[in-house]
Amino acid sequence: MDGAQVTATAPVFILLGPPGAGKGTQARMLQDAHGFVQLSTGDLLRAAVAAGTDAGEAAKAVMEAGGLVSDEIVIAILKDRLGDEDCGHGVILDGFPRTTGQAEALDELLADAGQHINAAISLEVDDAAMVARISGRFTCGNCGEGYHDVHKPTAVLGTCDKCGGTHMKRRADDNAETVAQRLTEYHKQTAPLIDYYEGKGVLQSLDAMGEIDAIATTLSGMVREAAG
Ligand code: ADP
Repeated sequence: MDGAQVTATAPVFILLGPPGAGKGTQARMLQDAHGFVQLSTGDLLRAAVAAGTDAGEAAKAVMEAGGLVSDEIVIAILKDRLGDEDCGHGVILDGFPRTTGQAEALDELLADAGQHINAAISLEVDDAAMVARISGRFTCGNCGEGYHDVHKPTAVLGTCDKCGGTHMKRRADDNAETVAQRLTEYHKQTAPLIDYYEGKGVLQSLDAMGEIDAIATTLSGMVREAAG
Protein backbone atom coordinates (compact mmCIF):
# COMPACT_ATOMS: atom_id res chain seq x y z
CA MET A 1 0.00 0.00 0.00
CA ASP A 2 1.53 3.27 -1.09
CA GLY A 3 3.15 5.15 1.73
CA ALA A 4 1.20 3.25 4.37
CA GLN A 5 2.76 3.09 7.80
CA VAL A 6 1.05 -0.09 8.95
CA THR A 7 3.94 -2.49 9.45
CA ALA A 8 4.26 -6.18 10.13
CA THR A 9 4.48 -5.35 13.83
CA ALA A 10 1.42 -3.10 13.89
CA PRO A 11 -1.66 -5.02 15.05
CA VAL A 12 -4.96 -4.59 13.21
CA PHE A 13 -8.29 -5.11 14.95
CA ILE A 14 -11.81 -4.86 13.56
CA LEU A 15 -14.85 -4.13 15.70
CA LEU A 16 -18.03 -5.56 14.16
CA GLY A 17 -21.57 -4.88 15.32
CA PRO A 18 -24.73 -2.96 14.45
CA PRO A 19 -25.11 0.80 14.88
CA GLY A 20 -25.33 1.48 18.60
CA ALA A 21 -23.39 -1.64 19.65
CA GLY A 22 -20.73 0.58 21.22
CA LYS A 23 -17.97 0.21 18.64
CA GLY A 24 -16.96 3.86 18.83
CA THR A 25 -17.03 4.00 22.63
CA GLN A 26 -14.98 0.83 22.97
CA ALA A 27 -12.56 1.74 20.18
CA ARG A 28 -11.79 5.03 21.93
CA MET A 29 -11.18 3.22 25.21
CA LEU A 30 -8.85 0.76 23.49
CA GLN A 31 -7.05 3.68 21.89
CA ASP A 32 -6.51 5.29 25.30
CA ALA A 33 -5.48 2.02 26.99
CA HIS A 34 -3.23 0.49 24.32
CA GLY A 35 -2.09 3.38 22.13
CA PHE A 36 -3.67 1.94 19.00
CA VAL A 37 -5.39 4.38 16.66
CA GLN A 38 -9.16 4.32 16.30
CA LEU A 39 -10.12 4.53 12.63
CA SER A 40 -13.82 5.24 12.19
CA THR A 41 -14.97 5.55 8.59
CA GLY A 42 -18.12 7.25 9.95
CA ASP A 43 -15.94 9.97 11.57
CA LEU A 44 -13.79 10.27 8.43
CA LEU A 45 -16.91 10.62 6.27
CA ARG A 46 -18.47 13.20 8.61
CA ALA A 47 -15.22 15.17 8.43
CA ALA A 48 -15.33 14.97 4.61
CA VAL A 49 -18.95 16.20 4.64
CA ALA A 50 -18.03 19.08 6.96
CA ALA A 51 -15.03 20.00 4.79
CA GLY A 52 -17.19 19.89 1.64
CA THR A 53 -14.80 17.61 -0.29
CA ASP A 54 -16.05 15.75 -3.40
CA ALA A 55 -16.26 12.54 -1.36
CA GLY A 56 -18.19 14.38 1.36
CA GLU A 57 -20.63 15.84 -1.16
CA ALA A 58 -21.25 12.39 -2.61
CA ALA A 59 -21.68 10.79 0.84
CA LYS A 60 -23.91 13.35 2.57
CA ALA A 61 -27.38 12.37 1.32
CA VAL A 62 -26.66 8.63 1.60
CA MET A 63 -25.58 9.02 5.22
CA GLU A 64 -28.62 11.12 6.10
CA ALA A 65 -30.86 8.39 4.68
CA GLY A 66 -29.06 5.66 6.65
CA GLY A 67 -27.66 3.95 3.55
CA LEU A 68 -24.09 2.82 2.90
CA VAL A 69 -21.65 5.09 1.12
CA SER A 70 -20.05 3.46 -1.97
CA ASP A 71 -17.16 1.06 -1.43
CA GLU A 72 -15.04 3.16 -3.79
CA ILE A 73 -15.31 6.31 -1.64
CA VAL A 74 -14.94 4.55 1.71
CA ILE A 75 -11.96 2.43 0.67
CA ALA A 76 -10.17 5.51 -0.74
CA ILE A 77 -10.75 7.45 2.50
CA LEU A 78 -9.57 4.58 4.68
CA LYS A 79 -6.50 3.86 2.54
CA ASP A 80 -5.51 7.49 2.75
CA ARG A 81 -5.84 7.56 6.56
CA LEU A 82 -3.96 4.26 6.98
CA GLY A 83 -0.97 5.98 5.39
CA ASP A 84 -0.63 8.40 8.32
CA GLU A 85 2.31 7.88 10.61
CA ASP A 86 0.30 7.29 13.81
CA CYS A 87 -1.22 4.14 12.28
CA GLY A 88 2.19 2.49 12.71
CA HIS A 89 1.21 1.86 16.37
CA GLY A 90 -1.64 -0.42 15.32
CA VAL A 91 -5.24 0.32 14.42
CA ILE A 92 -8.75 -0.41 15.64
CA LEU A 93 -11.14 -0.32 12.69
CA ASP A 94 -14.56 0.93 13.80
CA GLY A 95 -17.31 0.76 11.17
CA PHE A 96 -15.05 -0.66 8.47
CA PRO A 97 -15.35 -3.00 6.65
CA ARG A 98 -19.11 -2.94 6.20
CA THR A 99 -19.42 -4.95 2.98
CA THR A 100 -17.69 -8.02 1.56
CA GLY A 101 -16.12 -5.76 -1.08
CA GLN A 102 -14.56 -3.60 1.64
CA ALA A 103 -13.35 -6.69 3.54
CA GLU A 104 -11.64 -8.02 0.41
CA ALA A 105 -10.07 -4.63 -0.31
CA LEU A 106 -8.76 -4.49 3.26
CA ASP A 107 -7.24 -7.96 2.93
CA GLU A 108 -5.43 -6.79 -0.19
CA LEU A 109 -4.18 -3.57 1.40
CA LEU A 110 -2.83 -5.45 4.40
CA ALA A 111 -1.30 -8.25 2.32
CA ASP A 112 0.56 -5.63 0.25
CA ALA A 113 1.98 -4.24 3.52
CA GLY A 114 2.91 -7.72 4.83
CA GLN A 115 0.27 -7.30 7.52
CA HIS A 116 -2.74 -9.27 8.70
CA ILE A 117 -5.86 -8.92 10.85
CA ASN A 118 -5.12 -9.90 14.44
CA ALA A 119 -8.79 -10.21 15.40
CA ALA A 120 -12.26 -9.27 14.17
CA ILE A 121 -14.32 -8.86 17.31
CA SER A 122 -18.10 -9.03 17.05
CA LEU A 123 -20.03 -7.01 19.65
CA GLU A 124 -23.21 -9.01 20.22
CA VAL A 125 -26.29 -6.95 21.11
CA ASP A 126 -30.10 -7.05 20.89
CA ASP A 127 -31.37 -4.99 17.98
CA ALA A 128 -34.39 -3.91 19.99
CA ALA A 129 -32.17 -1.98 22.43
CA MET A 130 -30.22 -0.17 19.73
CA VAL A 131 -32.80 2.47 18.85
CA ALA A 132 -32.98 3.73 22.46
CA ARG A 133 -29.20 3.64 22.77
CA ILE A 134 -28.66 5.65 19.61
CA SER A 135 -31.47 8.12 20.21
CA GLY A 136 -29.88 9.18 23.53
CA ARG A 137 -26.31 9.57 22.45
CA PHE A 138 -24.24 12.74 22.03
CA THR A 139 -20.57 13.67 21.88
CA CYS A 140 -18.35 16.51 23.04
CA GLY A 141 -17.82 18.85 20.09
CA ASN A 142 -14.33 19.63 21.36
CA CYS A 143 -12.67 16.28 22.19
CA GLY A 144 -15.16 13.78 20.72
CA GLU A 145 -15.85 11.92 23.99
CA GLY A 146 -19.12 9.98 23.68
CA TYR A 147 -22.02 10.21 26.16
CA HIS A 148 -25.59 8.97 26.56
CA ASP A 149 -28.54 10.67 28.24
CA VAL A 150 -29.27 7.57 30.36
CA HIS A 151 -26.29 5.19 30.22
CA LYS A 152 -23.41 7.66 30.39
CA PRO A 153 -24.44 11.22 31.27
CA THR A 154 -21.88 13.95 31.90
CA ALA A 155 -21.18 14.58 35.62
CA VAL A 156 -22.12 18.23 35.15
CA LEU A 157 -24.97 18.87 32.74
CA GLY A 158 -23.66 20.16 29.41
CA THR A 159 -19.97 19.95 30.36
CA CYS A 160 -17.56 17.30 29.06
CA ASP A 161 -16.03 15.21 31.89
CA LYS A 162 -12.86 14.75 29.88
CA CYS A 163 -11.96 18.19 28.53
CA GLY A 164 -14.47 20.62 30.09
CA GLY A 165 -15.91 21.53 26.67
CA THR A 166 -19.46 22.86 26.69
CA HIS A 167 -20.48 22.30 23.08
CA MET A 168 -22.28 18.95 22.86
CA LYS A 169 -23.27 17.52 19.47
CA ARG A 170 -25.94 15.07 18.33
CA ARG A 171 -25.59 13.38 14.94
CA ALA A 172 -28.11 14.22 12.21
CA ASP A 173 -28.60 10.50 11.47
CA ASP A 174 -29.24 9.49 15.10
CA ASN A 175 -33.02 9.54 14.84
CA ALA A 176 -35.46 6.61 15.01
CA GLU A 177 -36.29 6.41 11.26
CA THR A 178 -32.69 6.54 10.08
CA VAL A 179 -31.59 4.07 12.75
CA ALA A 180 -34.12 1.51 11.46
CA GLN A 181 -32.62 1.84 7.97
CA ARG A 182 -29.07 1.56 9.34
CA LEU A 183 -30.01 -1.65 11.17
CA THR A 184 -31.51 -3.08 7.97
CA GLU A 185 -28.31 -2.25 6.06
CA TYR A 186 -26.25 -3.83 8.81
CA HIS A 187 -28.09 -7.15 8.61
CA LYS A 188 -28.08 -7.21 4.83
CA GLN A 189 -24.57 -6.01 4.06
CA THR A 190 -22.38 -6.20 7.17
CA ALA A 191 -23.54 -9.18 9.27
CA PRO A 192 -22.25 -11.63 6.59
CA LEU A 193 -18.74 -10.47 7.55
CA ILE A 194 -19.09 -12.44 10.79
CA ASP A 195 -18.95 -15.64 8.72
CA TYR A 196 -16.26 -14.13 6.50
CA TYR A 197 -13.91 -13.61 9.45
CA GLU A 198 -14.88 -16.88 11.09
CA GLY A 199 -13.76 -18.58 7.88
CA LYS A 200 -10.41 -16.81 8.20
CA GLY A 201 -10.03 -17.98 11.80
CA VAL A 202 -9.82 -14.47 13.31
CA LEU A 203 -13.37 -14.05 14.65
CA GLN A 204 -13.98 -13.44 18.35
CA SER A 205 -17.31 -12.50 19.94
CA LEU A 206 -18.41 -10.89 23.15
CA ASP A 207 -21.71 -10.01 24.80
CA ALA A 208 -21.93 -6.22 24.51
CA MET A 209 -25.21 -5.68 26.39
CA GLY A 210 -23.54 -5.13 29.80
CA GLU A 211 -21.77 -2.23 31.50
CA ILE A 212 -19.40 -0.19 29.34
CA ASP A 213 -16.44 -0.62 31.72
CA ALA A 214 -16.93 -4.39 32.08
CA ILE A 215 -17.08 -4.80 28.30
CA ALA A 216 -13.96 -2.64 27.97
CA THR A 217 -12.07 -4.87 30.41
CA THR A 218 -12.99 -8.03 28.49
CA LEU A 219 -12.20 -6.42 25.15
CA SER A 220 -8.89 -5.12 26.41
CA GLY A 221 -7.88 -8.66 27.41
CA MET A 222 -8.86 -10.02 23.99
CA VAL A 223 -6.86 -7.31 22.23
CA ARG A 224 -3.80 -7.78 24.43
CA GLU A 225 -3.85 -11.51 23.73
CA ALA A 226 -4.38 -11.15 19.97
CA ALA A 227 -1.76 -8.40 19.60
CA GLY A 228 1.04 -10.65 20.85
P1 ADP B 1 -23.00 3.74 13.15
O1 ADP B 1 -22.11 2.55 13.29
O2 ADP B 1 -23.61 4.16 14.43
O3 ADP B 1 -24.02 3.60 12.04
P2 ADP B 1 -20.93 5.32 11.80
O4 ADP B 1 -20.41 6.61 12.27
O5 ADP B 1 -20.00 4.16 11.75
O6 ADP B 1 -22.16 5.02 12.74
O7 ADP B 1 -21.56 5.48 10.33
C1 ADP B 1 -22.45 6.52 9.99
C2 ADP B 1 -22.81 6.43 8.50
O8 ADP B 1 -21.62 6.62 7.71
C3 ADP B 1 -23.36 5.08 8.04
O9 ADP B 1 -24.77 4.98 8.26
C4 ADP B 1 -22.98 5.12 6.54
O10 ADP B 1 -23.86 5.94 5.81
C5 ADP B 1 -21.62 5.79 6.56
N1 ADP B 1 -20.50 4.81 6.67
C6 ADP B 1 -19.61 4.71 7.71
N2 ADP B 1 -18.72 3.74 7.48
C7 ADP B 1 -19.05 3.19 6.28
C8 ADP B 1 -18.53 2.13 5.50
N3 ADP B 1 -17.48 1.39 5.90
N4 ADP B 1 -19.13 1.84 4.31
C9 ADP B 1 -20.19 2.56 3.87
N5 ADP B 1 -20.75 3.56 4.56
C10 ADP B 1 -20.19 3.89 5.75
